[in-house]
This record gives sequence, structure tokens and C-alpha cells, in this order.
Amino acid sequence: MKEFKKTLLIDLDGVLNTYHGDYNNDFIPPIRDGAKELLEKLYLEYEIKLFTSRNKLLACKWIIENDLDKFITDVTSEKQPAFLYIDDRAISFNGNYSKLFEDIKNFKVWYSA
Ligand SMILES: [Mg+2]
Repeated sequence: MKEFKKTLLIDLDGVLNTYHGDYNNDFIPPIRDGAKELLEKLYLEYEIKLFTSRNKLLACKWIIENDLDKFITDVTSEKQPAFLYIDDRAISFNGNYSKLFEDIKNFKVWYSA
């Protein structure tokens, strides 16, 4: 019987790679230091799917080139059911709309100056 693992949808640009705002449709920046080690640990307990709006073939190629195909089971741009969504452009909603409004107004992606 297949063991049930909670799913994590993990973003590519700005999370698993060195992207920092210089988007190129035809090129996915190199993997970030520590990203492979993180996936290595996570995949033991979670099903990991790459969550990206990039071209799926390009993203799959990047996964294979970086030897990550053992850890990542799918590439999707759809919001599939998941335990967590990990993204550099996200805010965790805590039930308070005033706080959410302020968080949106003050949001800065982590790699911006
Ligand atoms: Mg991103």
C-alpha cells in the first residue's frame, strides 16, 4: 500500500533558484545553495510538486539537469490540493483583513533591496 504523504507545492523562481527579479522566459536561473538538501529532507515526509507558471518542459528539464527528479513528483501551474504552498510572493492570511491589507501594502519580496 502506498504511504500517504501530505503534499507541498513549492514555487521555483525565487525559492528553489537564484531568480531575483530578472525574468527571462527561456532561461531558468541556477539552483540556490541548499535547495537540493532541503528537497532531500522534505521528500522523505512530503510529496513535493513544483508550482510554477513557467513552461512545463523547460521546468522539467531544469529539474532533471539539477538531479531533482527523485524528489519532485509533478510540475503544475494549477492550485492543486496541498498541505502548504511555498512561494516568495505570498502572504499567510491569519483571519484579519486589516492586517492582510497592511501586509499587501507593505509587501516586499525577500530578494528586493
Ligand atoms: Mg516565485
